[in-house]
Amino acid sequence: MADLMGTKDYENGLNFLEELTENGHRIQEQVLEEILLRNAGTEYLTRFLHGRTDKQLFKNNVPIVTYEDIKPYIDRIANGETSNILLADPISEFIQSSGTSGGQPKLIPMTAENFEKKTLELTLVDPVVKNETPSGLTMRTLSSCYFMSDSFKKSAPKICTSPIETILCLDHRQSMYCQLLTGLLQRDHVVSISSIFGSVLARSIKFLEDHWNELCSNIRTGCLSDWITDPGCRNAVSSILTRPNPELADTIEHICGNESWEGIIKKLWPAAKYINSVITGTMSQYISLLDFYGGGTPLVSPSYGSSESTFGINLNPLSNPFDVSYTFLPNMAYFEFLPVDKDGEEKARESNLDGVSSQRSLEMTNANGNVEPVDFANVKLGQYYEVVVTTFTGLYRYRVGDVLKLTGFHNNSPQFQFVERRNSVLSVDLDKTSEADLLKAIRNAKRHLEPLGFIMEQCCSIVEESLDFTYKSLREANKIAALELRVVKHGTFDALMDFYVSKGASINQYKTPSCIKSEEAVKVLNSGVLEKFFSPKTFF
Ligand code: AMP
Repeated sequence: MADLMGTKDYENGLNFLEELTENGHRIQEQVLEEILLRNAGTEYLTRFLHGRTDKQLFKNNVPIVTYEDIKPYIDRIANGETSNILLADPISEFIQSSGTSGGQPKLIPMTAENFEKKTLELTLVDPVVKNETPSGLTMRTLSSCYFMSDSFKKSAPKICTSPIETILCLDHRQSMYCQLLTGLLQRDHVVSISSIFGSVLARSIKFLEDHWNELCSNIRTGCLSDWITDPGCRNAVSSILTRPNPELADTIEHICGNESWEGIIKKLWPAAKYINSVITGTMSQYISLLDFYGGGTPLVSPSYGSSESTFGINLNPLSNPFDVSYTFLPNMAYFEFLPVDKDGEEKARESNLDGVSSQRSLEMTNANGNVEPVDFANVKLGQYYEVVVTTFTGLYRYRVGDVLKLTGFHNNSPQFQFVERRNSVLSVDLDKTSEADLLKAIRNAKRHLEPLGFIMEQCCSIVEESLDFTYKSLREANKIAALELRVVKHGTFDALMDFYVSKGASINQYKTPSCIKSEEAVKVLNSGVLEKFFSPKTFF
């Protein structure tokens, strides 16, 4: 059993996965035991456990927290105090979350030992953001850590057409240009097109739209453009761009010169079997675009993870992108699940507010009326949960902020569909429109309008019609003004991404925010507005 807790045995692939998921409950108990044995003596846990390692005591005494609750402890470590405040093992560095989906970037402790466990198949474009805390510990994004790791540097030449120097290049335009160039030069060998999130892939295709002429000219002459000044990129590309290749340039020019770019990925990379990118959650907005460019190349959303922990992988890679579920891996962390209602509210709070105490709500609350999280063994089909993790790296009963729906089991491991970020809720009055509600409403409007061309006012009405009862009642009572859609000029969302990248976000982990609070970011969007449309509907 001990080796199931480790990371070495991945060669055995599917067998290992079967063994892991079959022993899901037992491994979870073992993970919690190990975390407590190692860390019960830390300042943080001593406050609640007084040195004991009892699992039930842990569940009774250790509070469920958010990042804000533990930030003072993390700040102390970042400022030079011992990591023993939170965990027994020394912290090797901090992982910096993207901060684009859920507010400010967070610093998550990382140990050398746990690093291998966290990294999944992360590939393609990334400017490496690296800073230092006052204590001298580095902070990097998870993707940066992975790309700079020895294991990636060793495996990259065998699995990527992008040379490692182009991936690590800090200038993301040069990085993207060179990766596209080397991908085109080796087009017959490309078996999959990958980026961590679908947004990056969509952006890469847009970049190709703007640069294919220049790329073809480089291929035709065998000379790299002068504006590629990064020495690593120049060296790496020159070992692949070794001679003029007018035939290849003609082929690519012919493909890209076609008026329609439908199926461009399939045409440029004919051997590609699939597109490998997260396209669930907020990334689902890119599905139709990637489907269009892919021309039937399957979209595979491989895994679900975060700076805090790896959660699960997609065991049914060819499933419909809207139906993807991730099977949780029991050896990654100790997982608990906080029941939530579909609109993101904790069950008990909801029932207290309404004065309703259904049997189901009671089952989930403790004597104080607080919602109790359930463990791996007690999750229920169809129920929505917020995931809570206890990690090997100093997070104890930590709310990740993601809402998931239980859709099934693989052996004894639960499978979840990603639903939404908990705090991305739009509320004008008493209404609560979540990220998932909004995406659904927009999908609906698109489906109705595509055959008719874009009649924007009608589009506003259909989005409103697709929202929930509370929204519509408040709208009818004039408590909510007419829904407004703003059309922005081409490149506006790229400018938004550039804005966040300039603030330190990693391109690779960037997620287009569905809810923006930063005034500066709102200004970036507003500066691209071409036209505004309002819903003419006043009743439903
Ligand atoms: P970060 O902390 O910057 O690494 O971002 C992690 C967050 O990205 C997660 O908490 C999710 O909200 C989101 N995310 C990661 N993987 C997926 C996925 N497969 N589907 C939907 N959202 C995801």
